[in-house]
Amino acid sequence: MEFNFVKSKRGKDLLAYEGFTYRQEKEINGKRIWKCTKYEKEKCKARAHSTEDSVVVISPHSHVPDNGDIRKKEITNEVREVAKSTREPPNRIVAQVIKKYVRTEDEEGSVPKISNLKKIAQRMRQRNQVLAENPTSVADFEIPAEFQTTDTGETLLLHDSGSGRGDQRTLISGMARNLEYLAENRHWITQ
Ligand SMILES: [Zn+2]
Repeated sequence: MEFNFVKSKRGKDLLAYEGFTYRQEKEINGKRIWKCTKYEKEKCKARAHSTEDSVVVISPHSHVPDNGDIRKKEITNEVREVAKSTREPPNRIVAQVIKKYVRTEDEEGSVPKISNLKKIAQRMRQRNQVLAENPTSVADFEIPAEFQTTDTGETLLLHDSGSGRGDQRTLISGMARNLEYLAENRHWITQ
């Protein structure tokens, strides 16, 4: 059976294997020694040794495996990772990750609280957002690339007269598709 690693709440590697999770205790000659994460809660004495490509469980667990718990950790980890590198809204990030990990109805029960996942995504986005400095004149204001297109990649900034015209600058934002609708219609009703 395959093993993988998930992150603990504090960002440490946990070994996930056969429905159990382990926290690293020590490392000896490239072999990592792990103890069950239920060491205190369940007084579980199970340990595992891992190398690059194998895991050996040393003593039996005193409790049942919990694949749902591992899935919850995987979902939380992935929401955090995805949110680091995208500007998608948190609810979309969360929906995508859940779709990826939850494939059967049985698995629907083992999903972290959606509102918590959204908060995590929101927090990661804020942390990674690099805000442009405040412009000091109309001319030196550069419009960041992500504000020049829509979420789906369509052009949003249709025209920018550019700098070099003193205090005059014209920006037109809109979508080509909507301009086509206007062009097709004889009557425009505007606000
Ligand atoms: Zn255990």
